[in-house]
Parts: sequence; C-alpha cells; structure tokens
Amino acid sequence: MALPQEPGFNTRAIHVGQDPDPITGATVPPLYLTSTFTQPELGRHLGYEYGRNDNPTRQSLEEALASLEQGQGAVAYASGMAASDAVLRLLSPGGRVLAAEDLYGGVYRLLERVYRGQGILTEYVDPADLDALASAIQRYQPQMLWLESPSNPLLKVFDIAQAAKLAHHHGTLLVVDNTFASPYNQNPLALGADLVVHSTTKYIGGHSDVIGGAVVARDETLLERLRFLRNTAGATLGPFEAWLTLRGLKTLGVRMERHAANAARIQAFLQRHPRVERVYYPADAGALASQQMRTMGGMVSFVLKPTGSQDPMVAVKRVMDSFRVFSLAESLGGVESLAGHPSTMTHAAVPNDERRRRGIVDTLIRLSVGIEDVEDLVADLDLALNEANPS
Ligand SMILES: *Cc1c(COP(=O)(O)O)cnc(C)c1O
Repeated sequence: MALPQEPGFNTRAIHVGQDPDPITGATVPPLYLTSTFTQPELGRHLGYEYGRNDNPTRQSLEEALASLEQGQGAVAYASGMAASDAVLRLLSPGGRVLAAEDLYGGVYRLLERVYRGQGILTEYVDPADLDALASAIQRYQPQMLWLESPSNPLLKVFDIAQAAKLAHHHGTLLVVDNTFASPYNQNPLALGADLVVHSTTKYIGGHSDVIGGAVVARDETLLERLRFLRNTAGATLGPFEAWLTLRGLKTLGVRMERHAANAARIQAFLQRHPRVERVYYPADAGALASQQMRTMGGMVSFVLKPTGSQDPMVAVKRVMDSFRVFSLAESLGGVESLAGHPSTMTHAAVPNDERRRRGIVDTLIRLSVGIEDVEDLVADLDLALNEANPS
C-alpha cells in the first residue's frame, strides 16, 4: 500500500507492515500459525522456510516497530528479557557494561547472576550526572552503556542525546530500554542511541494479555547479528503473540495520550494530598523532559507520609489492600490501572541498603495509570490513602 510521503505515528502504527493480504484481501494481516513452510520444488522457497526464523505475522510486527522507532529493522523475541539477553550476547568475552543504577530488576539480575559469572562485568552510574558519566566511560571503557529513561521506579529522565555523544566518543554502544516511554513518547535511535530494547508486554501490547520483547537497531550490521543470534539461540516470538502485540500496537498513540492525561491529573492530585510526602513524575526533570518526550507518559510514583508512630509497612499495606479500581500487580502499560510496591515487588532483589540509598523506601508506591475514567481513579486513590491512617 502506498502511504503518504511522511506518514505520522498513528498512520504508521496502523499500516506499516500491515498491507491487506494479496490473496484474499483480508484487511488485517492473517495470523500464520505454522511451524514450517512447504517449498514448491527443491532449491526454491516462497520466502519462508521454518518458523523459528521466519514468520509473516512476526515480520509485520517487526516492520511496524522499526518504523515507529525510526530504525533499520526490528527483531522480536519471546519476552523483554529475551530481547535484553540478545543485546548482551553482542558483547565479546571480557566485555564491560556501564549501566544506569536505576535499572529494571530483571536486567540487573541478568547482568549480575548470569553475565558476571561469564566474565562480563558491569559497573553502575547515575547518568543524571553527566560529568560522572563521562569520567566513568573514560575510566572503565565499557563496550556498552545501558540506560532507561524514564527510569524505574523513580521516573528520572536522562539526556539520551548527551549520553550518546559521550558513549560514541569512546566507541561505546548506547542501548536504551524504551519500555517506560514507548516509541510514541521518544525515539532514542533518533537521539543517537544504537539499539532500543522493548518489553512489548507493557505499553506496546497495552492490554496485559501477552508477553514479548523487541530490539530495534539503527544499523544493518547489528541487525544482521541479532537476527543470526535469534535464529541460533531460539528465543523467538510466537506468531499468535506477534499478532496480539500488533493488534495492541495500532492504538498505542491514542492510549498513550489518555494514559498521559490521566497520569498528569493524578500527579496533581497526589501533590496536594496530605498523606503524600513526595511525588515522582518525569516532568520533574523540567525542560529536558519536555524536549525529549512527547507526553510525560502514564507512570507516577509517590511516597506515603508517615504519621506519628505508625509502622510504615502497616500504613503502606493498608493503602495497597484498599484499592478497588487499581489492581495490586507487577507490570505496567496496560489499559487497566495497576499499583505496585517496589521494595517488596519489582525491586525486592536489590539489597536493602542499596535500595534505600537510591530512594526506593518502603513507603514508595508505583502507579501505572490506566485509561479508565480519571474521576474513578482519583476517588480510588483518595479512599485508599485515607485508609492508611483511619483516624
Ligand atoms: C518488564 C520490563 C522488562 C522485561 O520484560 P518482560 O517482557 O517482562 O520479559 C525489561 N525492561 C523494562 C523497563 C521492563 O519494564
């Protein structure tokens, strides 16, 4: 199908890689549930051979993602962790990683409990401090710099373009996990990153019904290596998962606008609430956030205010157990609102002292704001917060 010269985000999300089926005219690309492809004669196939490597449904998703992230191509995996693992497999023996200290817990575990044992070492840095970042790169000479922006769970925003400059000055690859922002809010490749990682389980799938991941590359050489590694190691995305993810992806733009509007309203509500000590939101980064991101996204974290001699864990448990619209759950980015408790859930694997040093206190609550009616979400939060200390 011929798209306009420079189609916008939503047009690409709905049409790129998703031409009507040439045989039947099916408007939505069919779901090809097949493990293999019959070849018409020896020595000639129709473009597909075996499902671990090729599948038309998965290709549709990959083409759409590559377009939305402004990359050369995308490679889809069985999960966000499989995508992260695929990127780390690009490292050579003795390779070193410099990672943001506010790192997704699963990636931290992969670096520390799998790759470290294989001789690939990681150091951590606060990338908000560009001088510290520059000197860490110079001293440590990492092969890879790994960032997330906004970060989890404190939603700090880092300067991707500056990080890319510092990394490239030393021949270091910049990898950005863009899961929290989604390609609607920012395109790290356009800001200079070399690889973008996604857990498509989150905003891209958007309906909390499918696990998946993807890597988008700026350059053909990295892309070819990733495709080879996926076919060889085998962590591919199944066709049904690809189909569901593509179905979700079509509405990413409209969902994200609503997530962002609801989150902005909730942030303002929490800021004024007497039981809230502090709110974390990407807009805290000021001009950098508004330059780098289209919307501030759908995540808001906050710290409960301690009252008198009350045990903070009792207070936080009261709040978490009182939600009626928010679900108490891991994950984020779905249409339904979720509330999580980082210190016992997503960040339980980070040692206690380290967690506190980074500001992940026991009274921190992370919200993934869904697209329900915002009045219902605000009322639910108000009710739960007032339960913290029923006086
Ligand atoms: C969820 C998540 C991952 C891991 O993705 P899975 O699909 O759960 O394997 C990686 N990075 C970030 C930022 C995430 O939120």
